[in-house]
Amino acid sequence: MNRVVNFSAGPGALPLPVLEQVQAELLDWHGAGMSVMEMSHRGKEFMSIAAQAEADLRALMKIPDSYKVLFMQGGATAQFGLIPMNLLGDKTGADYVVTGDWGKKAAKEAAKYCKVNVAASSAEDKFTHIPDRAGWQLDPAAAYVHITPNETIHGVEFPGDPDVGGVPLVADMSSNIISRPVDVSRYGLIYAGAQKNIGPAGLTLVIVREDLLGRASATTPGVFDYKAVADGESMLNTPPCFAWYVAGLVFKWALDQGGLDVIAQRNAAKAKLLYDYIDANAFYRNPVKPEHRSRMNVPFTLANPELDADFLKGAAAAGLSGLKGHRSVGGMRASIYNAMPESGVRALIDYMQEFARTRG
Ligand SMILES: *Cc1c(COP(=O)(O)O)cnc(C)c1O
Repeated sequence: MNRVVNFSAGPGALPLPVLEQVQAELLDWHGAGMSVMEMSHRGKEFMSIAAQAEADLRALMKIPDSYKVLFMQGGATAQFGLIPMNLLGDKTGADYVVTGDWGKKAAKEAAKYCKVNVAASSAEDKFTHIPDRAGWQLDPAAAYVHITPNETIHGVEFPGDPDVGGVPLVADMSSNIISRPVDVSRYGLIYAGAQKNIGPAGLTLVIVREDLLGRASATTPGVFDYKAVADGESMLNTPPCFAWYVAGLVFKWALDQGGLDVIAQRNAAKAKLLYDYIDANAFYRNPVKPEHRSRMNVPFTLANPELDADFLKGAAAAGLSGLKGHRSVGGMRASIYNAMPESGVRALIDYMQEFARTRG
């Protein structure tokens, strides 16, 4: 076996101890005589797996009791439409702060269902900073304010949890959930596709304040009505059982690491190593305003883009995988989620150093 250092943006690397536990339990989960993939979602074994995963996530993120945790399907992309369907109620519009391609996509999909007010956007500087809160043009009549706390493609991240007053704040945390402590009480709703920091694709987490439930439009599909999902404990139909189980192991792993304070410190240290190296070397460049740089996704360009293909080829030969930048921005991108050890970041820096020395 020869595992690579995996910088993939998503699906991304999972903690090795989690994968090893999945492997050990695969054929016979805790004496059930079958794998988690093969058992009834209504049986006592899976019910215990599901409940433990939720309890561990609640402990990890310190989720208040007044919030429901929903284990859904359809990815973050489905939520782009489900959010207005579920949260508009008798309102007609919503505010969107657009800080990258994912926020742009969320706003575009929402525009099918409501009047979208782009309260702020950093499109004019190619999404390389988070617009100052003071300049946001919020609509006091908006049903909610939508933000993307970490833009996976552009590598920009909100430095904290913004204050939007009494209007519910909705956040797409697909690429930075459980990477640092978050004050959940500041949000009306948090959602995330699982495949970056949580587990296998196919599972979508929704953390929603209870008072926002019960507003779904009449045409919302039943399995996507947050209140119905909450009342049915995310088992209205067959849930993504295996992904839910693996996510539970990841939550347990994160708690075993010491929780989100410890994980946040590690993530900050890993990101600092890489940005410091990029900033100190003229051959590499990251365009994002330093205080808004993502701790999860680090895009960078080479001084000579004609060397991109060689850089990637050499990286692959050195066991460094998934570094190609998103097609919309080009260059490279190192995604350094929770499961990426500091040694992986150091291996990347060593490679970058050698490449710049010999080819720069
Ligand atoms: C990956 C990603 C998405 C898309 O997630 P899917 O689960 O594939 O729909 C949306 N938003 C952000 C911030 C992402 O990183």
